[in-house]
Amino acid sequence: MQSWPAPARSRLPGRGFPLRVFDTATGSVRPLAAGPTARMYVCGITPYDATHLGHAFTYLTYDLLARVLLDAGHDVRYVQNVTDVDDPLFERARRDNQDWREIARNQIDLFRTDMAALRILPPTAYVGAVESIPLVIELIEKLHGRDATYEVDRDIYFPIGAAPHFGEISHLSHDMMVDRAAGNGGDPGRPGKRNPLDPLLWRAERPGEPAWPSPFGPGRPGWHIECAAIALAHLGERIDIQGGGTDLMFPHHECGVAHAEVASGVRPFARTHVHTAMVHLDGHKMSKSRGNLEFVSRLLVRGVPPAVIRIALLGHRHTAEWEWAPSLLDLARERLARWQAAIGHERGPDTRPLLDDVRRHLADDLDAPSAVAAVDRWAGAALSTGGDDPQAPALAHAIIDSLLGVDVEPIMAGGSSV
Ligand code: ZN
Repeated sequence: MQSWPAPARSRLPGRGFPLRVFDTATGSVRPLAAGPTARMYVCGITPYDATHLGHAFTYLTYDLLARVLLDAGHDVRYVQNVTDVDDPLFERARRDNQDWREIARNQIDLFRTDMAALRILPPTAYVGAVESIPLVIELIEKLHGRDATYEVDRDIYFPIGAAPHFGEISHLSHDMMVDRAAGNGGDPGRPGKRNPLDPLLWRAERPGEPAWPSPFGPGRPGWHIECAAIALAHLGERIDIQGGGTDLMFPHHECGVAHAEVASGVRPFARTHVHTAMVHLDGHKMSKSRGNLEFVSRLLVRGVPPAVIRIALLGHRHTAEWEWAPSLLDLARERLARWQAAIGHERGPDTRPLLDDVRRHLADDLDAPSAVAAVDRWAGAALSTGGDDPQAPALAHAIIDSLLGVDVEPIMAGGSSV
């Protein structure tokens, strides 16, 4: 599947710091310690409610992470999937009397447009579930060969008893796992399952649902096996980062990792688990079911510059939940105007402390708010005391562009932007 166009990225002098990042499984901030090529898998959207600000904040997290890794001299192999066959898509298709494939196509296009507008670095491989069905079938056969599948009325399940480390990412009690599984596409109450938490690998064909041929009969993939199959095929048996929103921690990531580890025999599949906190609106997590969503596309149509949306998102740590409010756009607009004015000066203060601060803060568990504050300090100094370095405005521009992903269009002293 086609990814979206990559934004240009300025070159910076020197190298960034090695990244330390919060790992969900160990509950601690740890050095990522990736090799020359960092391998990252991030769960993509199910294309039916793209792109609300919770999505945008999630993909911004991995954009920043990739920027820090690139700046520190790594190559980044980044794979993201798109779950273009799943229950929510069929439900919406039935409700709106539309073809599910058309909904998926339109929503994926919208997502790509929004990501490009926000200057989110694209994955090196953007992979759809439908196009990956042969990979899923191959992986289920591998699990079958390891005695890690069983059938309930033609549907195929994975026995979590085959995965001795199941539960070690999310650290939830059995009851909480059952509760989360029920609320996230699982079927803990289904009779015939060995364990209520056993996830579905292959759903046999149902009337009115699409199906693909397989050695175990026509049907379609379960959700977790899709990501496991794509990650194993495109990144290998061990990856550096598994990413997604905190809502994917259980059951999705726990099950996907269990599939990968049981199939490959390699543990850990993911060396680090990075999760992005949920964005709230009106006191609750933004969600389709509650209807409290704000969309990137809606803000763009209202004329909000993409750089303003990006700056508003950069004001928050990826590890803490936060509440969206329209006033954040006003603050971001003011901030952008100050940055534009500072970069529009012919000379500015020394940018070495700025570069060092932005690099240090981002390498410290992606502390974007502190990095933004460092830019504010430089811009404040440029606007008050000035500075005499003729290279400084261009360098500050490059730092903000390359590390924070904001293309600041400078406003020259005369008031015109270039
Ligand atoms: Zn996934």
